[in-house]
Amino acid sequence: MKKITRTYLNHLYERFDARFDGQEEFIQAVHSFLESVAPVLDRHPHWRDANLTEALLYPERLISFKVKWLDDKGTLRINQGYRIQFNGELGPYKGGLRFDPSVTPSVISFLGFEQTFKNALTGLPIGSGKGGADFDPSEASEDEIRRFSEAFISELAHHIGEDRDVPAGDVGVGSREISYFARRYEDIHATSSPGTFTGKPPGRNGLKGREEATGYGLIYFVEEMLRHQETGLEGKRIAVSGAGNVSLHAMQKAKDKGGIIVACSDSSGMITNNDGLDIEAVRKTKEKGGSLKDLADGTKTITYQSDSGAIWQVKADIALPCAMENELKEDDAKTLITNGISLVAEGANMPCTPDAIMAFLQNDVLFGPGKASNAGGVVASVFEMAQAKEQIPWTFEKTDEHLERQMTEIYRRCQDAANTYGDGKNLDQGANIAGFLRILEASADS
Ligand code: NDP
Repeated sequence: MKKITRTYLNHLYERFDARFDGQEEFIQAVHSFLESVAPVLDRHPHWRDANLTEALLYPERLISFKVKWLDDKGTLRINQGYRIQFNGELGPYKGGLRFDPSVTPSVISFLGFEQTFKNALTGLPIGSGKGGADFDPSEASEDEIRRFSEAFISELAHHIGEDRDVPAGDVGVGSREISYFARRYEDIHATSSPGTFTGKPPGRNGLKGREEATGYGLIYFVEEMLRHQETGLEGKRIAVSGAGNVSLHAMQKAKDKGGIIVACSDSSGMITNNDGLDIEAVRKTKEKGGSLKDLADGTKTITYQSDSGAIWQVKADIALPCAMENELKEDDAKTLITNGISLVAEGANMPCTPDAIMAFLQNDVLFGPGKASNAGGVVASVFEMAQAKEQIPWTFEKTDEHLERQMTEIYRRCQDAANTYGDGKNLDQGANIAGFLRILEASADS
């Protein structure tokens, strides 16, 4: 990196870190992003001199609100809700809502920041947003989840809309919750608005194939990475963390393509089977609200450990972290490398720490960054927005076919940028740079 770029970045960090003091996740995401796009600032000094880069680091607005709701005992409960409208340069704000006790302004900001470059990388006309609440659905009854969802969206309803801000689901928010949001939103505005949310159930103006899209898209991206190495998924041993939306669909698609899923995890533990897990059995257990331990208890072929993180000790060719941010740390990366891992691709948002990514790159492990490899969800969300405008339902096959094509394009953009600005091996840098250039160009024109 040139000295002048180093000095510029240090100035940015100084101001940014002081402004967002204590927001660890947000600071981590911004630093690691800026370090990787430095070659663009070296090569095109006008982007540095115009200081457009700094403007991209700050969200346009963070809406923070109180959510009041009644639990099953009739007691008033209070949670904190957020919606960040990060960058609207390329279109309506777009990004998911997360219900999880870990939700803080820092988590929402880092997710919104990452979403900015992910959405730009898709080449589609969408800006970036994210949101959620520190509400724990795992501790709530179905009625409480519905009441909370309605209370949450009542507070947000005047800030969103099909041409303004289009939320989707994320951790703890699936098609059921989106359906509660959509109904309540339409009641409040006394209108029909199928384009205001994506991730709706297919029977309620949703898109067939949206639910599968992030996990399937991850596997299409992995296939492209392997194709570049003149190999494929057939016979590859795969460890996938999580047992939720992204993880289950990634496991199913990888298995359909000939991969062997040797391990998966949930928040309470992990399971392994050297001959390959039965994904349908995992799905059924989780759908019934069970844990992986329940599944392991019922069969001799599955080994269970109560430590979810132990999944990275399993011998595999491919690792797909699909659960939570920072779930795969440097030590886990070293263990995977020692055990002969050849490819890691992120299904979750920022599941690998910067040190872990560095370890993969230094040891020639192919690395697929979440910004690119998990973009299938947002891509399908744009299809759902198009379907709402066209008022003609898409078939599952149409969604899947378009998704595969888009994931191939996203891979190509990452690879091209990695070739142009580096040695062609660093797709993390390639993804950041490709998204960065698109948004810089849009900002410069406005
Ligand atoms: P879900 O809530 O459906 O699933 C999350 C899964 O992760 C659950 O099985 C949960 O366990 C498990 N989990 C939680 N903590 C841990 C842990 N410490 N170790 C192992 N497993 C854990 O979420 P999604 O699948 O929708 O999202 C997963 C990730 O993918 C998130 O980072 C999200 O932001 C990202 N993502 C999601 C998209 C989507 O379309 N859904 C789009 C792009 C990114 P348990 O079952 O016990 O709760």
